[in-house]
Amino acid sequence: MALHYKQPKYYDKFKCIGGKCTVSCCERWSIDWYGHEIKKVKDANPSDELKELLEKSFKEKLDTFNFSDLRTDEEKRYSIILKENGNCPFHNEEGLCMIQKELGEEYLSETCTIYPRKHFIHKENIIRSCYNSCPAVLDLLSEDINAVRLESQYTESDFHYRLSSDGDKLKRLENYPVLNYRMELMEFYNKLITDRNVSLETAIVLGALASKRFTDAVENNKIDEIPALIKEYEEKLKDKATIKAIEEIKPNYLVQFKFVNNLLVTFLENADIQINISNLHDGEKLIPENYARGIANLNDTFKGREYFFKNVAANMLFDFNMPFRIQECSILENYTYYALAVASLKVIGVSVAEKGVDVEKKYKNAISMMGRAFAHNKTRTKNVIEYLKEHGFTSAAHVALLIK
Ligand code: SF4
Repeated sequence: MALHYKQPKYYDKFKCIGGKCTVSCCERWSIDWYGHEIKKVKDANPSDELKELLEKSFKEKLDTFNFSDLRTDEEKRYSIILKENGNCPFHNEEGLCMIQKELGEEYLSETCTIYPRKHFIHKENIIRSCYNSCPAVLDLLSEDINAVRLESQYTESDFHYRLSSDGDKLKRLENYPVLNYRMELMEFYNKLITDRNVSLETAIVLGALASKRFTDAVENNKIDEIPALIKEYEEKLKDKATIKAIEEIKPNYLVQFKFVNNLLVTFLENADIQINISNLHDGEKLIPENYARGIANLNDTFKGREYFFKNVAANMLFDFNMPFRIQECSILENYTYYALAVASLKVIGVSVAEKGVDVEKKYKNAISMMGRAFAHNKTRTKNVIEYLKEHGFTSAAHVALLIK
């Protein structure tokens, strides 16, 4: 059966760079395997070395409801026990996966096979994209100004789709009817963030104004107004007076810095991302010359490819299933989280660039690390949203403070 895929332009170009990868999804990331997947590898008559590793490299994952006893061995979930240095035990010295090398890709777990691709099923549509946490994806985003432009494809169901299961179930659509506008909203935000005529910061503030209106429509049981609101904000994007007024909002680096620093110190301390922005501040005070040097170095590095950061921000919309990352949070709350994530990549870029050598490589590594922390842990997202709410960050004006 032909399926309707919506995907960014870069999607079909993705190719894992394996041993050349500077971050590797197999490092410091404990990947899930099902019992039947482990059995398949064991039954394939692997080498003695692989056999021995299989025996000692998995631990069972107990689920929240302790249903483990009711599951068969094949249904149980296991996670890989990482080596002391954080690497996957199946990684060989060349940085290649021993299972894949010895037996073939079809013996990898679902998670290993799909990553960094993601599929989200909505009615008869499938939104597919790749996570920012993979450096090969970031390379694609830095090579083509139109990399994140949405394209449609009618094609046979693909292998990765058959392994995926995330999507809007019928019951969910009934209980939370605004999800029926997922495609329209996803296309709206994509168009907004990728628009070449306005700066990323202005696009994000305009998106916050729209998100507030969408949220009001949901809270007042007027979700049918959403298509008209989308049109209204698409018009605003072309309205020179609106754009000028937003462009003129002055940046407040101190607010931005404080929130990003807090995010790194409070929420990401256990995320093993090894990023700090201490070179940008002296206690509570910013060091303006370091900030200025970082911005200049960053601009220099991406000269002629200024679109890169916009592409990263636009791709993050897919990473977060925007604007519905956390269903029980409002569209504006989800959007404020998104704005903080973009702001943090900005500040981290300035910090990394200020430190000098091989800025592009260091920045892409940092984005990849932050991508893991932002997009692969919903509990953390909820905590960050709570933190933003506690600090009164519940309006478009606050989003402007974070991002400008
Ligand atoms: S992070 Fe991306 S490029 Fe690196 S090993 Fe994983 S899939 Fe391949």
